[in-house]
Amino acid sequence: MSTAADFFRRFMPGGTPPLEQRRAEMLARLRSGGIHDQRVLEAMAAVPREEFVTEGSEGDAYADRALPIGYRQTISQPLMVAIIVEALELDEGDRVLDVGTGSGYQAAVIARCGGRVVSIERIPRLAAAARSRLRRLGFDVHVVVGDGTGRLPFRGLFDAIGVAAASPWPPPTSLVDGLAPGGRLVIPVTHVGDGGGGDLGERLIRLRRVDDDDGTHFPCEDLGACRFVPLIGVQGYSVDMDE
Ligand code: SAH
Repeated sequence: MSTAADFFRRFMPGGTPPLEQRRAEMLARLRSGGIHDQRVLEAMAAVPREEFVTEGSEGDAYADRALPIGYRQTISQPLMVAIIVEALELDEGDRVLDVGTGSGYQAAVIARCGGRVVSIERIPRLAAAARSRLRRLGFDVHVVVGDGTGRLPFRGLFDAIGVAAASPWPPPTSLVDGLAPGGRLVIPVTHVGDGGGGDLGERLIRLRRVDDDDGTHFPCEDLGACRFVPLIGVQGYSVDMDE
């Protein structure tokens, strides 16, 4: 497969453009993709994405797509990370759960936005690699191995929960029940009906916990189409046979 980095190596006499330039191009794409939250843009500018991709694909780190990180998983496309983090509507000091640590990139962006982050990953080796990477880069993120669709190994509720893998509808009760009053859950879900029996495919949605005199409600907003690896677990999809 030919990558953007290969292209530059072959056709640009000076080699690949410097990381600074690629990062600036990514930020321009995020802005034109509808990201306006200055804190999110600053975080995406500050977190060194090249440190989160696998060795050899650093040249593509700022490209507009997901990249493989091993174990058939991917680091999400930069625009998707920015959309999720913006939709979390973070306040400084918010307690945030990041589901699907993967490379740790999304957790780092949330931490950089001022969130106090715990992150859960079901594949132990990815969790271990992300944990040491985040520590080395100075991000204060607590990474645990576990199933984000099952009983959560954390105490207390979260102001925001961001999920980087596609869930069946409805989202896992463990996550919905993990929201503090006013909390936001941003999660990709598959096969959402349009009410008329049609299938809208994979959508990014936001549930918000609202407590009022009538009780607790979870109004839901559709944030648009998306594409993610499956969320695998007791209230997610079942494990692939060849894993
Ligand atoms: N946020 C990551 C994206 C990783 S892709 C990043 O920035 O790199 C999604 C990740 O979710 C994969 O690593 C996958 O193993 C993990 N995952 C899938 N189902 C999960 C579950 N039930 N609980 C925790 N992690 C899960």
